[in-house]
Amino acid sequence: MELETIRHSAAHLMAAAVKKLYPETKFDIGPATENGFYYDFDMDHRLTVEDLAQIEKAMKKMLGGKVKFERFETTREEAQKLLADQPFKLERLADIPEGEAISFYRSGDFIDLCRGPHVESSAEIGAVKLLSVAGSYFRGDENNKMLQRIYGTAFATAEDLKEYLNRIEEAAKRDHRKLGTELELFGFSEQIGPGLVLWHPKGAMIRHLVETAWKEEHYKNGYQLLYTPHIGQSILWETSGHLDFYHDGMYSPMQIDEKDYYAKPMNCPFHIEVYRSRLRSYRELPLRWAELGTVYRYEKSGSLHGLMRVRGFTQDDAHIICTPETIEEEIAEVLRFSLYINRMFGFTDIKPYLATRPAKAVGEPERWAKAIDSLEKAVAKAGLECEVDEGGGAFYGPKIDLKIKDAIGREWQTTTIQFDFNLPERFDMTYIGADGQKHRPYMVHRALLGSLERFFGILVEHYAGAFPLWLAPEQARILPVSDKLVDQAMAIRDEMRKAGFRVEVDPQAAGLGAKIREARSARLPYIFVLGDREAAEGTLAVRSRREGELGAMKIAEIIEKMKYELENKVN
Ligand SMILES: [Zn+2]
Ligand SMILES: [Zn+2]
Repeated sequence: MELETIRHSAAHLMAAAVKKLYPETKFDIGPATENGFYYDFDMDHRLTVEDLAQIEKAMKKMLGGKVKFERFETTREEAQKLLADQPFKLERLADIPEGEAISFYRSGDFIDLCRGPHVESSAEIGAVKLLSVAGSYFRGDENNKMLQRIYGTAFATAEDLKEYLNRIEEAAKRDHRKLGTELELFGFSEQIGPGLVLWHPKGAMIRHLVETAWKEEHYKNGYQLLYTPHIGQSILWETSGHLDFYHDGMYSPMQIDEKDYYAKPMNCPFHIEVYRSRLRSYRELPLRWAELGTVYRYEKSGSLHGLMRVRGFTQDDAHIICTPETIEEEIAEVLRFSLYINRMFGFTDIKPYLATRPAKAVGEPERWAKAIDSLEKAVAKAGLECEVDEGGGAFYGPKIDLKIKDAIGREWQTTTIQFDFNLPERFDMTYIGADGQKHRPYMVHRALLGSLERFFGILVEHYAGAFPLWLAPEQARILPVSDKLVDQAMAIRDEMRKAGFRVEVDPQAAGLGAKIREARSARLPYIFVLGDREAAEGTLAVRSRREGELGAMKIAEIIEKMKYELENKVN
């Protein structure tokens, strides 16, 4: 049985239970979601967590009672009669096109307008759990009435449910918003505005490390870096077409010298202007131009979510401009590089998703075919298998997305490799070929991490705030056991800092137990204890987060060990 069917059927049972407990309720709809289901209700009573327990109890009774799901069809008039006291259902009924069957499902004494499918009997729903209640506008429109939405989940077996609940508990512990505050990594300010991130010193250090590694790898792999402005005149966005097809994602313009300037939602037109600054020859292609480009995009306030969805963010962007002769090679190379960068951050389970030509598209069919072919070949060369979304590409070109799995098995999209047949036309990008004629180059957009903000959120959750040595803002802390050892601890700290490590001393007069607890909650890769014996011997008692207690080690030995981990980016 499909999980989706089980969950949607559970939503019916929940509605039935709600009707039993609150007979005056008006019902909207109850679909299955990625991880469960919900149902939207309108009632005077404000539902509480205690109420959810009651509703769940009533549902469980139905599960045991093996309630059958029976389908019947009606005419539109009969349906209107059946739903006479259900205003939201009547609106949903009106959505069903003329000529389409109108079907109801009866489960026990509850009937619901629904297309199905459902389980045959509630016995097929192994386990249910109601999770939360939240406000939700009818049809998601804030001009409509606010309904109450109950979220729940259902599984075929009790074991599956238990495993899922453990996973969401684990996810809650790792929530980057919670850890971001606890570990002082980043924050937001009501004064500044929603969706605009403040990177606090420790988060900023990690970002610096990510950016530095990113830039170094790009230079090593044949890219050049660009820096471009945050705003550009309306003519640029008219030429690019963004004011037309991306208007909803852009903020209102500001005026400078009576001209409209827009905050950039994308970096591409700026890179294209660098390309167009002079005539280009086939000899200098391919060009690989990368930029940590900060863009601004409108997101509804309700959809903002920590670092995962924000209004201002920095893309780790690049544009590859090449000839048709080298496109295959270039794509294979960009995919190889993408995989390498994702793996560098500790993500080894990576899956490509290919999206091909939609019905409405720009660009010659031969270019599309060549582009898709090069993407497929690149995936095969990398020894991976990709999932194909036929017709799921953007109108301007096919793409590959890479999705990574984190430490608790959740999938996140990081990399996008996107062909563009639109902008080179609109900006009339050309190069002079070996034949002395003008030709249109291929252009590919790609971001490897996606955005620094979102990727940082993923990193925080993947590592649960316990960053590997190379990314830890504080790599080690020295804990002197008494006041008289503080000076010696500082001297060791300075020696380690000179060797390139981020080391602190805890100079507090507190007992060692308290200092260790504090250092542990900071999730440091290393804790060093300096007692009288260690001080006399020139050692530190080493506690590695990864390997546990390692006993007394000479300072030089510790530095060697940390250097090895750092250089090899041991995760
Ligand atoms: Zn249904
Ligand atoms: Zn671009």
